[in-house]
Order: sequence, then structure tokens, then C-alpha cells
Amino acid sequence: MAPQLAITGALAWLVWPAIASVGTLLAGTAAAILYYEWVHFIAHIPYKPRTAWGRWIKKYHLWHHYKNERLWFGVTNPSFDIMMRSYAHVVDVSQSATVRNLNG
Ligand SMILES: [Zn+2]
Repeated sequence: MAPQLAITGALAWLVWPAIASVGTLLAGTAAAILYYEWVHFIAHIPYKPRTAWGRWIKKYHLWHHYKNERLWFGVTNPSFDIMMRSYAHVVDVSQSATVRNLNG
């Protein structure tokens, strides 16, 4: 996480050199990274999330690993998949022959 925060902090300092603004941005960035890592961790352990959203986003991420590696890249939400056209309805997608190949 340190490299991401250093780069983010340096770029923010160039744009807006105020310690309070850069500190706030870094705190938000660290929180976002920790949230991403937490949701990804939960997706890969045998734990059933308590909320409907948590159960859905876990299933969503696991489609990427077990159904088609070219779709559903989102870990915390599907917004970039929708924008980048890597979202599809799971029932419309057949299983990729290479989904379990970790090295391509
Ligand atoms: Zn994963």
C-alpha cells in the first residue's frame, strides 16, 4: 500500500500543496485500498457475508475466477465493468476453457 500512497500523495501535492488536503486524500485512499483488500479476502475464504450485497459481490467476483476471466473484474462493485463492457449476465456466458489457467 505504501507505493500507492506515496504516488497519490506526490501527485496531490503537485496539484494542491496543502497538508490537510493531501492528508485527507491519503486517508481516503488508504481506506479505499483496505476496503478493496477486505472484500477480496472475504470473496476467497469460506465465509458467507451477512448482507445481500456482500453475498452478491462475493458471487460476482467468483464468476471472474471460476466462469470467465475476461469478465467481471470488479471486486467491490461492477461500475467499471459496466463502463468497460466487461459486464455480462452470468446466464448468458458459458464457462471459459481457460478460466482456471493462472498463467494465461
Ligand atoms: Zn480474486
